[in-house]
Amino acid sequence: MNYCKHCMIPTDEENCPVCGEKHLWPVLPEDPCFVGELGVPWSDIFADVLRQKQIPCLMKPLWGAGWTATLGSKFEQMCFYVPYEYLPSAQELAEELFSQMEEDDEETEE
Ligand SMILES: [Zn+2]
Repeated sequence: MNYCKHCMIPTDEENCPVCGEKHLWPVLPEDPCFVGELGVPWSDIFADVLRQKQIPCLMKPLWGAGWTATLGSKFEQMCFYVPYEYLPSAQELAEELFSQMEEDDEETEE
């Protein structure tokens, strides 16, 4: 498995499928890998779930700090990264959360 340091994603390809980077590194267990992006309150919930499972995670605001200050944390979108060795479990947790989000959406539409 290779790893693109720009996009922070692991890939089977020789070139990065996202940015086309040709110089990929073999992925290391501690390399941070992109899991997904979530807005409040889901970002808080996901961070909590990861903490409970003792999965170390990195959170990075999708927009710069300026946006956060202008719009308030309500609109803040966070990108989540976890070490490669935790990626499968983190993705599983993220999928569970995404299905809960969809259920929530359906409820509010009614
Ligand atoms: Zn890339």
